[in-house]
Amino acid sequence: MTDYDTIKTFPESDRDWSEKQWQYLLNYLVDIGMVKYNEIASLVLGHLNPSQVGTSVASNKSFQCHYPPRKCWEAVRQWHFEQSGKCADCGTRLELQADHIIPKEELGDAANTLDNMTLRCRRCNVVKRPSHKHGGKTFLTSEAALMWLLFTRRPKTYDEFMKLCRNYGLTMASVRFEESWAMAKWLEREGLYTISPNSKY
Ligand SMILES: [Zn+2]
Repeated sequence: MTDYDTIKTFPESDRDWSEKQWQYLLNYLVDIGMVKYNEIASLVLGHLNPSQVGTSVASNKSFQCHYPPRKCWEAVRQWHFEQSGKCADCGTRLELQADHIIPKEELGDAANTLDNMTLRCRRCNVVKRPSHKHGGKTFLTSEAALMWLLFTRRPKTYDEFMKLCRNYGLTMASVRFEESWAMAKWLEREGLYTISPNSKY
């Protein structure tokens, strides 16, 4: 049986977690009945499928204009097949998106050619933006980091949760933290979480 006290001893930054520690967290979430392995498998398989990566490129007018009518998809399919199937930056196979090699900010609409497109994961794509200055602090996407903080640190008040999120470099509006705090409320009702009576929410 996996338990939460063990997770508390893991490194404070998720970037320093070993594969064994991630495995422990998954087992813990299954043990407490949060998720089932078939649900985890379905999510992983779904995110391995580069859904609508090619078709969204092919439906973009600024790509279509380089090809005779109805020929765009053939070129995109060829481009798609020739890719490595991994993120150009971090190498993951999960959540791949089509992204520019030389950014659109530099080339404008001329950036939209297949030679200038590569596959990059959603996370690497997002952390490049200026609004994500702290993006490198966590390996997780911000949605995932919110739940990671909740399950691994177990803050007892909403303010403590919000502070943890801010200290972790999450820059989203605080309504997003309030929204995520719902998980603590739901779990508390099932006896799976402890919220202090002093908590604002
Ligand atoms: Zn990546």
